[in-house]
Amino acid sequence: MAGPGKGGDAQIGSAAKAHAGSQSGAGALAGGHAGGLAGGPAGGHPGGLPGALPVDHAAVDRHHMARALVLARQAWDRGEVPVGAVLVAADGRVLGEGSNRPIGNSDPTAHAEIVALRTACTAVGNYRLPGATLYVTLEPCAMCMGAMLHTRLARVVFGAPDPKTGVCGGTIDLPAVAQLNHQTVVEGGVLAAECADLLRAFFRARRDAVKARRLAEREGAGAGPQVVPDALTDGEATDPAA
Ligand SMILES: [Zn+2]
Repeated sequence: MAGPGKGGDAQIGSAAKAHAGSQSGAGALAGGHAGGLAGGPAGGHPGGLPGALPVDHAAVDRHHMARALVLARQAWDRGEVPVGAVLVAADGRVLGEGSNRPIGNSDPTAHAEIVALRTACTAVGNYRLPGATLYVTLEPCAMCMGAMLHTRLARVVFGAPDPKTGVCGGTIDLPAVAQLNHQTVVEGGVLAAECADLLRAFFRARRDAVKARRLAEREGAGAGPQVVPDALTDGEATDPAA
């Protein structure tokens, strides 16, 4: 446990470095979203029954992030940027899951977090989920963080940082804005290396596909234009290697 505003694995590789802005921001605004320690009472996890074994909050976080990674890989299988999300109630029940599907759905709002929020809210029959925690493999963008604040989530846990579109320290630190009417604890760096590796591999495949297409075009291989999914050709800002 490295301190407020950070997950137990926050020191993994470049992920922690890239999220350093958020950490310092959280420290400067300790009255804001950084008020909860990882796995603390604000974390939404049950503290355990009297006499029961203590809950390993870091292990719980890794468990749910591992599931989000499985969902992220499913997004890749569909040609989408591999991001996955899991929404967990305060009592530990999984309320909803989501993986990236903006291309397949022709819906720019169909990020993994939004899909998980919609699924969970529909299941519960409430547009607010106080006490819940959302796990997502990539630092949330402004749209998703806004939606999560509206949902009144207690906590957001992400894996890899996104220095280009992330708003939990990657670009700005939206949840640290004290004037917001709801404060959500945000922690980054859980299974960060695994989450970042998956994205890197995806974007490497994207670059290889583009190179192969150009080579085929130059050689006049007669293969005709290859259809490359939008996610492999557009200027997706989440490429950690870009
Ligand atoms: Zn988003």
